[in-house]
Amino acid sequence: MKVAIIGIGTVGSAVATAVKNTGLVNEIVLYDRDEIRARAAAEDLGHASTFSFDVKINSVNDYRGIRGSEVVIISAGANQKPGQTRMDLLGANANVIRDIVPRVMKNVDPKRVVLIVVTNPLDIMVMLASQLSGLPESRVIGTGTMLDSARLKIILSRLLGVSSQSINGYVLGEHGDTSVINWSSISIGNLPLNDFCKQVRIPVSAASRKTIDYRVHNAAYEIIQGRGATWDGIGAVVSDLLRCIINNEKRILTVSKKEIIGNKPVAVSLPRIVGSDGIITTLFPKMNAEETKFLKKSMEVIESGFKKLK
Ligand code: NAD
Repeated sequence: MKVAIIGIGTVGSAVATAVKNTGLVNEIVLYDRDEIRARAAAEDLGHASTFSFDVKINSVNDYRGIRGSEVVIISAGANQKPGQTRMDLLGANANVIRDIVPRVMKNVDPKRVVLIVVTNPLDIMVMLASQLSGLPESRVIGTGTMLDSARLKIILSRLLGVSSQSINGYVLGEHGDTSVINWSSISIGNLPLNDFCKQVRIPVSAASRKTIDYRVHNAAYEIIQGRGATWDGIGAVVSDLLRCIINNEKRILTVSKKEIIGNKPVAVSLPRIVGSDGIITTLFPKMNAEETKFLKKSMEVIESGFKKLK
């Protein structure tokens, strides 16, 4: 399996390392408009691969070098500076996606390729990449709220003293400031959250839910403030998504995809079954009235951001 990564900055490099460490790919090609940066990353990662799986890692300075890739990961574009929102990157990163996607499409097999979009503002970039690629929408996948859901699970895990892997908890909507914690559907093991809390005698009050909500929404801002960017979390997200695709695992992941919801096309994160052909099924979880209202608002923000591009 050959995988291409476009954009080898902080995130692209972390993604390349995480992908290499899955042991599931035998070739990774790195493309960045900054050729020197891509070449240096390929060298460094190549050295690292002698200590793990024997993966061929090369940089390419022409899109023809990505030929044969079955998955293309797009992690190019401006990142948030302290104080900036993801939406502040809209205009600049739309131009990056407009530059990259047509060139990628000239060099991949449209019948097979899966595009994974990482660039922010994520959901709008998924809509744009979907439109520009002409691929079935099920094969243009945004990492969506996988990272937000991971943040939620880690906070709950520390609070409740249970492994994050036993928590089925999803953040839905925009990968951004309007994402929505789907409190109504959280389960720990096979117990609804409230039942679990009663049994372990750790209440999660309305006030703690508010604090958790704030911490999930603020996580990226805190990391950017402290280390300039985020990369380890998203690297792990992309490699997990890639594993699900390569192994046709059919796991449920909160990824983003353009589809018609309520008569309008929008890319938004919902729980989705993912396999080797990309997204197989979208699931609509149980939501209370407030969550439904916030999800609607989140979709409106994405739709109006996309309209601004025209
Ligand atoms: P960075 O500045 O470190 O790297 C960006 C790279 O993109 C640079 O190497 C640059 O040369 C390259 N690039 C820019 N335009 C290009 C083009 N047209 N063609 C090829 N390469 C191009 O930024 P970063 O920290 O790596 O972040 C990259 C993107 O990932 C940002 O948009 C960031 O917001 C996003 N991100 C998304 C998530 C997520 O959960 N989806 C998480 C973290 C970061």
